[in-house]
Formats: sequence, C-alpha cells, structure tokens
Amino acid sequence: MAIQQKLSLMIPGPTPVPEKVLQALGKHPIGHRTKDFQDLVESTTKNLQWLHQTQNDILTITGSGTAAMEAGIINTLSKGDKVLCGENGKFGQRWVQVAKEFGLDVIKIEAKWGSPLNPDDFKTILEKDTEKEIKAVILTHSETSTGVINDLKKISTHIRNHEKALSIIDCVTSLGACSVPVDEWELDIVASGSQKGYMIPPGLSFISMSDKAWQASEKSNLPKFYLNLKSYKKSLLNNSNPYTPAVNLVFALDESLKMMRDEGLENIFKRHNRHKLAISKAALTLKLKLFADENYLSPAITAIEIDDINAEDFRKTIKKEYDILLAGGQDHLKGKIFRVGHLGYVNDRDIISVVAAISNTLLNQNKISSKEAGEALKVASNYLKIN
Ligand SMILES: *Cc1c(COP(=O)(O)O)cnc(C)c1O
Repeated sequence: MAIQQKLSLMIPGPTPVPEKVLQALGKHPIGHRTKDFQDLVESTTKNLQWLHQTQNDILTITGSGTAAMEAGIINTLSKGDKVLCGENGKFGQRWVQVAKEFGLDVIKIEAKWGSPLNPDDFKTILEKDTEKEIKAVILTHSETSTGVINDLKKISTHIRNHEKALSIIDCVTSLGACSVPVDEWELDIVASGSQKGYMIPPGLSFISMSDKAWQASEKSNLPKFYLNLKSYKKSLLNNSNPYTPAVNLVFALDESLKMMRDEGLENIFKRHNRHKLAISKAALTLKLKLFADENYLSPAITAIEIDDINAEDFRKTIKKEYDILLAGGQDHLKGKIFRVGHLGYVNDRDIISVVAAISNTLLNQNKISSKEAGEALKVASNYLKIN
C-alpha cells in the first residue's frame, strides 16, 4: 500500500528529480539582474551547449516544451510558407496543428502510429522541390506517444541536401537520452523541456538556434512578443533574460547539468539504452507486445500493448499496489497500451522494480506462470549488465 512521498515516476515527464536538485530549488530566489544570476546563466548556457553538442545559441524560456517548439516556428517562418511536417503520433500531430494555426501551408508526411517516419518520403519531396518553396521541415525525434524514435540522422541529411529548408526538431524526449549531435547533423532549431531528460521539474524550455535559423528570423512576419527570440538573444549577450525567468528552476538546472557532466554523455546514453533493452526484452518475455517497431525503440519510453486486460486498469493497479506511476495510451490507444518512462534520473533499481511490478500484476491475474515472471526478471537483469 501507498505511503506518502514514495511515488516512483515512470512517465515521460515530469521525471524524477535528484535530491541535490530539489535542494537547489528550495533556495531563496535571487535577483535576476544580478551578477550572481548572470554567472549562473553563463554556466548553464555553456553546459547546455555541451549537452546539445553544439556551438549554436541556446536560449532558455520560462514555459513548457511546447513554448520552445512554437517559438521555433513563429520566429523563422511567415504566413503562407510551405512546410513539411512529419506525423507519426500525438506530438507530430501537435506541430501540424501549431503550423496550421499560424497560417502555414502544411504538407504532411505520415506513418502509422508505432512505425517510424520513412526518410525516403522526405528525400522524395525535398528533391522534387527545385523551386525551393519548402521553408522548413518540422518533426519529432522521439515520439513519446508511441515510443518510436525517428531516424533523424538520415532525415537531416535530406534536409541539408535541400539547402534552403530549415530543420525544426522536437527533441524533447531524445535530448539527454541519446546522442543528438546538433552541429554534426546541422540541426537548425532544436526544442526541449526541463521536465524530461534534464531531471528538473517542469517550467523551462530550451531552444537551440543555428546561424541559418537567425538569418531566417530576419524575414519572419508571424506575430510574437513573449516568444520573440531576438529579445532572448540580445539578453543572452550579457547572460541575462528579457523577462523574469523561473530563477529557482535555473538553480536546479545548473545542478542537474553539472550532474550530467559528471556522468558523461556516453555513460548517460548507455544507461538509457540498457534500460530500454531491459524493459522491452522483459516485456517480450512476458508475452506482451511492443507497440513500437522493435528497430526504432525510443531510449526514453517503452509503449507496451496488452491484450485482454484494459491497460488503464492495469496501470492503475500498479500505481495502487506499488506506487509506480506509468503513463497510459493517448487518443485511440487509451486502454490499449501503457507506457513506461525511463528518462532522466532513472537507475537499474527502478527498472527491476517496474519489471517486477508488471510481472507480479500479470501473475496475480493468472496471465502468466511464476516461471515466466522469474524469466522476465532474469532477462531484465542480464540486459542491465551490458555496457
Ligand atoms: C513532453 C513532450 C513535449 C512537450 O510538452 P509540454 O507539455 O509542452 O512540455 C513535446 N514533445 C514531446 C515528444 C514530448 O514528449
């Protein structure tokens, strides 16, 4: 039974927050126009560039991940601009909606939910656009609603070959979980949010802008004020912010980025990969189905299909019995899948616990034998040993 404050968050955001970061949040706020705060912005900006593997400007906005994506769109495009949007889940859908709301001319590239976007579809359309009418390609790297990771490396090559189109990428659940080499892939605009791989509570979002993105911003005519990135860029020149930022979240960010630097990028990516493998292989051992294509599993979240049990009831049982919060399916997937978040501050114990909770719940409902339950734990522990 539940005891207070022992909840294990295994949803794709908000994610668990380390003690050190919680303590930073509890400090008394300081003035955001002080030297101390400027030092903090200098340090977080440098570490954000390290995480993004880029020299590009990275701006911090007080707002959730959607604010950063919307900012990317409205700062670089103009009414009527033609854009290519990848849609293979709920977040892809959201960016189509935002683009349409701002009067952009959207061409959709779709894939079935659970499948990755096909890079060749991008290649074909971009190559045909000899008049260079397509101004941007908008897509989601890790599609949180389905647990699919899209092949951004390949798709970014096709965007680069077009030369004119900007890339506007939702990396909200890929940054901090797998490598997103912004400079190497020449990604123009990359958006993310604090409550995901950053290990801090919701409230901040980040946007990385290339020189090409800044050039495009000179011509953009979409309305904007709070999210006008030129103001953020100007302030960043003296390590400041145009409006009052969530000061305490910046304290937290500074701590969490330092923790990430201590662990090292490679180790962080390996940990997420191990956890992804442990959970997905254990699910298969339990005769559950993975909702996402097995070759395109997100490092941050695993979507699991469950037959003849309502997935909502199943995850509610796990919450009640084990204090582990899992995510449900969205839209038509509600009741059909549950999703296990393994993003950010997650260790091997969390993974073993969630596998045990899933196995036990199936066992209690006579869906599997105790031998199968044991097998799943063995499989998970073996994957946790790989480097
Ligand atoms: C969480 C998430 C977002 C951002 O959502 P907010 O609620 O605005 O922070 C965007 N894209 C993906 C893929 C996400 O998982």
